[in-house]
Amino acid sequence: MGSRIAVIGSYAVGMTISTERFPQEGETVKGKNFKAMHGGKGSNQAVAASRMGAEVLYGGCVGNDSFGDGAIKLYEEEGIDSSYIIRSRENQSTGVGLIYINAKGENEIVIDLAANFELSPADIDRMLPEISKCKLLLMQLEIHMDTVLYAAKKCKELGIPVVLNPAPYNQMPEELLKYCEFLVPNQTEARAILGLDEDSSLSDEEVAKQIHKLGVKNVIVTLGSEGALLVNDTMCKKIEGIPVNAIDTTGAGDTFNGSFCVALAEGHTIEDAIKFANISAGLAVTKYGVIEGIPTREEVIKIAE
Ligand code: ADP
Repeated sequence: MGSRIAVIGSYAVGMTISTERFPQEGETVKGKNFKAMHGGKGSNQAVAASRMGAEVLYGGCVGNDSFGDGAIKLYEEEGIDSSYIIRSRENQSTGVGLIYINAKGENEIVIDLAANFELSPADIDRMLPEISKCKLLLMQLEIHMDTVLYAAKKCKELGIPVVLNPAPYNQMPEELLKYCEFLVPNQTEARAILGLDEDSSLSDEEVAKQIHKLGVKNVIVTLGSEGALLVNDTMCKKIEGIPVNAIDTTGAGDTFNGSFCVALAEGHTIEDAIKFANISAGLAVTKYGVIEGIPTREEVIKIAE
């Protein structure tokens, strides 16, 4: 316990509303069950890491609005170090996602990552003295690519391992892959990295091996209920997920990434860290909601034993 890790990424409020059917252009329809929930991959992963027992240093940018206040309050409650969170200097709002859900359970989503894109290489420079005291840096792709690239490059120079969850997938500069010690895509993202369609017939093993050849030391492709696949110089191994009754798989990847990093930072082998993350993410999908679903370290340990 007590490992320190850095997470740099996004925060957004996800606002969902249920409606019989989606509105047509110019139309207003009635909705119900409105909910506003904490989200953003960086923030979710930071919460997962903190619940797994790490000391988490979190970097991101939120607006000078009540949503931004809500994010800071979340980090206080979760025991996350938010001293490097920036409030927008350009009067941008906190990131938001508006989600309509119709009676068939289909959704329509509009997102504005807003303030998240303000986090700059200069902000990373300010954080670097603290990042260099951490065991690793975890990032995703919901902030500006230049910032991700800069942070990864600096960490590589400092000898701090970078774990990148390339989600949501976005074209990455080739050099970014070389700065990452660990790349953790899901099956869709892994195929996108190679320019393949989601339904490409190439096997997960082949996909992971080809990504490894691009210069990533350790490729971990998450496989939903099947667990995850690890490919590096010495192995190509599938590590089974845990059997659960899945109710809501949103945020499974976030719980996996946060938990994996904590186990890794504690000095466990990559395989054991994946086992730990499979349990944590497996438990997460048994509950509704992302933050609500992330288990505690004690719950994960109980199953691991
Ligand atoms: P994402 O949420 O990014 O699409 P995955 O669907 O691959 O990623 O899920 C991430 C991880 O969550 C998996 O590697 C696994 O550990 C766990 N997981 C997801 N769905 C299930 C499930 N139905 N049963 C057990 N574990 C699951």
